[in-house]
Amino acid sequence: MQMSMSSQSVNHVYQLIQMFFYEEEDMKNFVLPLLALSHLYSVPSLKRVCTHFLERGGLTKENVIDVLQLARNCDAPRLSLICLRMVVKDFKSVSSTEGWKVMKHANRSLEQELVESVIEEDSRKDEKLRKLEEKKVYLQLYEAMEALLHICKDGCRTIGPCDKALKGSQVACNFPACKGLETLVRHFSNCKTRVPGGCIHCKRMWQLLELHSRMCDEPDFCKVPLCRHFKEKMKQQTKKDEAKWRLLVSKVIAAKNSLGPFSLAQRSIAIATP
Ligand SMILES: [Zn+2]
Ligand SMILES: [Zn+2]
Ligand SMILES: [Zn+2]
Repeated sequence: MQMSMSSQSVNHVYQLIQMFFYEEEDMKNFVLPLLALSHLYSVPSLKRVCTHFLERGGLTKENVIDVLQLARNCDAPRLSLICLRMVVKDFKSVSSTEGWKVMKHANRSLEQELVESVIEEDSRKDEKLRKLEEKKVYLQLYEAMEALLHICKDGCRTIGPCDKALKGSQVACNFPACKGLETLVRHFSNCKTRVPGGCIHCKRMWQLLELHSRMCDEPDFCKVPLCRHFKEKMKQQTKKDEAKWRLLVSKVIAAKNSLGPFSLAQRSIAIATP
């Protein structure tokens, strides 16, 4: 229920405020009853003063639950949203306050709503983290694809096409995955492990070669080993395999596109160049 106040009464309220609440400390102590009164007597300017005070530093973990309830009762949506954010952000401290305990007994549905908001926020954060981790894996695969092309086309350090003069380890390489791939290729050509499909490292190499082939647009001119072989093999693949690889390729391309117009190698060149 709201009551209207005459302009004379409003002036009186202001005079009172000026008399009693000119110190910030006073405002701190009386801002909640003042907010309730400003709503009850429909004094928007006073309500604004109170909500501004609370929104700009007047909230504490001790008063936030009371303010949240008051803000909802007094139709102050922005203040109530700020309170809600504070509860979610600092739930551990807020839920150990006296205000929380009182609210828990008096307003079970609010308690439940707040706990649900915290759970929701946590799972949003987990999901974001999971997506970031996933993106990192696809970016690493993209780096490996770039390094593989670079090694097979130009050669780097100790490996490369036989028509290229290799410069050993003196060259600074701008492909972040190049060193790791060099080790993997060396292992692949010398591995003596006799297990079906090869050892774990060899399997990795097979996967990288196949992924390259799946992403390669010019198998007829491509210098990556087995590129055409995999293109041929693809013709007999099962629907399930096709879907699996298509999904992988699309994720790697999406991770690459999220980098913007420059590839990883171009980026590291840009970073290395003063
Ligand atoms: Zn390299
Ligand atoms: Zn091996
Ligand atoms: Zn190729």
